[in-house]
Amino acid sequence: MNRIRLLISLALLGFYCTGSAGARTSSETLLIRNITLIDGTGAEPLPNASVLIVDGLISKITTENTSAPEGATEIGGDGKYLMPGLIDSHMHLPGGRTGPGNREMIMDTDTGLKVLHGFLYAGVTAVYDSGNHDKYIYKMRSDSLAGRIVSPRIYATGSLVAKKNGYACCAGATTMDGFEDGKVKLDALFANKPDMLKFTRDRRGMGPRGQDLPLIPDDDFSQLIRYAKDNGVRTTIHIADEEAARLAIAAGVDALAHPVFLADASTGFAEYVADQGVVISSTALLFGAVGRVELDNTFFDDPLFTETLTEEERQFNKVTERNRYASSGMSGWMRGVLPAVLRNLKQLHDAGAIIAMGTDRLIGPMVHMEMELLAEAGIPPLDVITLSTLNGAKYIGVEAYLGSIEVGKRADMVILSKDPSVNIRNSRTIERVFINGKEIDRTQLDVAINQN
Ligand SMILES: [Zn+2]
Repeated sequence: MNRIRLLISLALLGFYCTGSAGARTSSETLLIRNITLIDGTGAEPLPNASVLIVDGLISKITTENTSAPEGATEIGGDGKYLMPGLIDSHMHLPGGRTGPGNREMIMDTDTGLKVLHGFLYAGVTAVYDSGNHDKYIYKMRSDSLAGRIVSPRIYATGSLVAKKNGYACCAGATTMDGFEDGKVKLDALFANKPDMLKFTRDRRGMGPRGQDLPLIPDDDFSQLIRYAKDNGVRTTIHIADEEAARLAIAAGVDALAHPVFLADASTGFAEYVADQGVVISSTALLFGAVGRVELDNTFFDDPLFTETLTEEERQFNKVTERNRYASSGMSGWMRGVLPAVLRNLKQLHDAGAIIAMGTDRLIGPMVHMEMELLAEAGIPPLDVITLSTLNGAKYIGVEAYLGSIEVGKRADMVILSKDPSVNIRNSRTIERVFINGKEIDRTQLDVAINQN
């Protein structure tokens, strides 16, 4: 870890030590007793575990009889499951952009906060915003860090880095011509302390009508990645095909914002990704949800959705958004792409590559749908949990202090009533959510179920 990242990490730790908004207890010591622990590392579930949390840190994990220290809060875990809080490694927080094609920059923090509460309610304790109106998302990030809002931990890219007239160029992205121009623009972006910087290189673009978009030239791109690295900034990139993915990995990017999705990746690609240690955000649900909603919008009637979204919001998604995706041909195109996405994810997993659960969607409960798609791809439930916790931390580069229930790490955790390691759908049975060892009062969150 270089100096800049270390400072950022320390700053995060510091803020989270004091940020206590929304916490139910004032005690700094918590003992969760006799629970089945799924620690996020891929280890088999550990029955009858007791986990001691002191000042937000996991300080002891034992299966022996243990008594709570003086003044500790105690939670009985009989019949319940404890796992790390979920991490969505690819989302875009609503409230920063609107207008046709989401191109107008706005500062609708109320909308953003409501969505963040939906994520928390659904068990998500950290999100990585993979591209947004920079002023907006950095305000939300600093409000969260300072404890002014109750939210998952927010990590952010801010403004995307794109080629002039290239993919995602025109929704507040930073565009550039040549390396020298790019360096100046990157310096300006670094001033915001992005948790990762996200580039785009996609010639075709999304949707049924293929485009022929300009790319940042190979040499410029490689130099920009190196420049980001020299400045201690982690990088990720939107790619669509294997050629762009390979070039990005060769240039030294740390992560890919999607698996290859335009076609099946070649034999050997998954091994290459695994060898290079590049982390890939899964984003199967981008294709899965947009593809599915045209034919079946009933998933918006599932409990976590009815509990977090108002009737009006659900109708908007079930009808207005559904019709937009259907009439533009986007739904059909996404359905066509999904099988290759799932095959590519399975190959990556089998090769030992690091996949991080990411939805590329805007609604908290959708993380559970992403997890179900990963299971559908053939990834065992216990591994899906690792993808959705520890690997999310790896994607962002914060695994030193987040993502698993291990001694020394931050106590971001959820308690479930059913076992997600036997059926991933049980990840939906969220009972309690903790960030930094402090319980989030789910009855106080701005979600539909609390509005009655
Ligand atoms: Zn995205």
